[in-house]
Amino acid sequence: MHIAILKETAPLETRVALMPEAVKTLVGQGMEVFIETGCGDHASASDADYISAGAKIGDREELLASADLFPSVNCLTTADQNKLKSGAIVVGFLRPLDEPALFQAAISKGATLFSMELVPRITRAQSMDALSSMATVAGYKAVLVGADAMPRMFPMLMTAAGTIPPAHVLVLGAGVAGLQAIATARRLGAVVEAYDVRAAAGEQVKSLGAKFLEIDLGGIETEDKGGYAKELTEEALERGRQLIIKQAKGSDLIITTALVPGRKAPLLIRREAVEGMRAGSVIVDLAAPNGGNCELTKPGETITVNGVTIFAPLNLPAAVPVHASQLYSRNVVNFLQLLVKKGELNLDMNDQIIKGSCVAHAGQVVNERVAAALQPRA
Ligand code: NAD
Repeated sequence: MHIAILKETAPLETRVALMPEAVKTLVGQGMEVFIETGCGDHASASDADYISAGAKIGDREELLASADLFPSVNCLTTADQNKLKSGAIVVGFLRPLDEPALFQAAISKGATLFSMELVPRITRAQSMDALSSMATVAGYKAVLVGADAMPRMFPMLMTAAGTIPPAHVLVLGAGVAGLQAIATARRLGAVVEAYDVRAAAGEQVKSLGAKFLEIDLGGIETEDKGGYAKELTEEALERGRQLIIKQAKGSDLIITTALVPGRKAPLLIRREAVEGMRAGSVIVDLAAPNGGNCELTKPGETITVNGVTIFAPLNLPAAVPVHASQLYSRNVVNFLQLLVKKGELNLDMNDQIIKGSCVAHAGQVVNERVAAALQPRA
């Protein structure tokens, strides 16, 4: 089994799919690992580190044409997919429901594709949960981005020159990213409030020393069986927005992370809420890749409206390349343990994790939701 780690080509991508420690594990299990020179440069993993771990250097074009398995962060470009040998396997963040057209060329080359986003969130797959890993990094970094842009400090300070009050941070959506944002803001000394539609999030928010904002959503179901938020009715969403207009007035920083799987991000912050914030306040909209939680968000851009700066990063984990790569690499190597036995490919398509994360097998789309997403819209 030949594994190839290529340099990521997406603009501003800094992560690498496998770090040297993961290569060492795979080589120890009998796999041959090749790297494209410089693949780990941004993540402080040099070619020499990979070679010490047992990897060999390969030419990109030759690797594309010969390797069996490509662990990657992002989907390969169409030009690269066209060079794959038949039956090659790609494992990565393939954005299968958002941009299924991205991997069409690989499918027509007979490839098998696994999407890390689709790894089911069951207990056995926790060590492969790359979405949680990246959400953790993004939640942490969002607070630092906000803190850096604010003209105020976070902690309460009592000095000879007087008292400085603590910053007020509002976190919308208290899932993995939101909880990490709360914990980071608390460590920096802010007073933190959070809002989520899942009642279960309340206890977690409180356990981190933040206040959980509760509102009456009219008794509707807000969670699905898997513990994810459901898409709310317009009336319930509006109740959340009215609460946010009130809370935003006293917030120095708002971090938004609210998502509903498979849907556009819910709109939580209207222009009115932004206009009610004082000048110098900051919003970091982590839902930007899914359209954003703020009406004014421009995905990928930073804008200022009435003195309020709105960040809408599309790939915040890439701003922390070493640890984002380390976590992702561990998730990928744990996932590969399922695909490869004794150094050879051994795909058990009845395994819930393999089946759940497989987008296409041997050139056929096998995931129903992806197949539906590929249908031309009427
Ligand atoms: P996510 O990224 O899909 O959503 C982020 C948060 O936004 C969620 O907490 C969601 O409830 C919230 N949200 C959605 N609509 C909202 C709205 N209108 N207003 C306010 N908040 C809104 O979620 P996630 O961070 O991936 O995690 C979702 C759930 O899955 C959590 O319960 C989490 O603890 C759980 N989880 C379980 C596992 C596991 O068992 N392996 C792993 C990760 C997460």
